Amino acid sequence: MPFPAEIKENALVSSGRCCCLCHKFCGTKIEVHHIREESEGGDNNNDNAIPLCFDCHADMRSYDHKHPKGNKYSENELKRHRDNWYAKITGNTGLAGRQEVVETDKHVYSRLIHLLPWDGSIRVISDNNFDGSSFRYEKLRDFDSFEYQCRNPAFEFIDPDLESLRAKLYTIIHCLSATLAENAFPTTMPGDFSVPAEWEVLQPMRFHEVVSKIHETCREIVETYSSLVRTATRKLGILPETMLTTSDI
Ligand SMILES: [Zn+2]
Repeated sequence: MPFPAEIKENALVSSGRCCCLCHKFCGTKIEVHHIREESEGGDNNNDNAIPLCFDCHADMRSYDHKHPKGNKYSENELKRHRDNWYAKITGNTGLAGRQEVVETDKHVYSRLIHLLPWDGSIRVISDNNFDGSSFRYEKLRDFDSFEYQCRNPAFEFIDPDLESLRAKLYTIIHCLSATLAENAFPTTMPGDFSVPAEWEVLQPMRFHEVVSKIHETCREIVETYSSLVRTATRKLGILPETMLTTSDI
């Protein structure tokens, strides 16, 4: 039985319609998951509900008890992730006040901008068109460092809007890395990679599919990055100088 409408509404409001595990904003693409399955005696109360995005929910379902890979979430851990996230949304962070939140988030933001400066990999993907032309992997290194840092639980904003944007940025950057890892190959130039230009003739469907997916993902990364910088400017009172590049100054 699904959760009663009222319990579902509580969960969606408390989470701000963001996934309680990866923190991205989901809008309508969100599900309220039973922490303990009903078949195992789970009830339909607030304490057994956790809003999750489709990806995290699928992760939860695909776990194979007989062939476990990675670490399964325990019920208690899921509840703690959920309660931490609800606390961020309601502003009940356990901190003394707004100023402490801003100071903590400023540190996270400056770390993020250090890992992902506007004129680094972000600029490379906004300039490059990847349509069979080559690119240097080392120019996309910022993304590796950012993805690596995102595995550190200390690298999270307290402010839910900023945290949701950071989580979204991580998801799309991860998607770009996966697409490139699968579809870009070394060219004759050492260090250069490209979606093979010959695919345009030999596998035109795949070529166009991959190229448009890369374009779309890059566009989304730049958009999310810009919106994170704007939100930080507004909420943390940081000057938007990080958006300027040396040539703009
Ligand atoms: Zn998620």
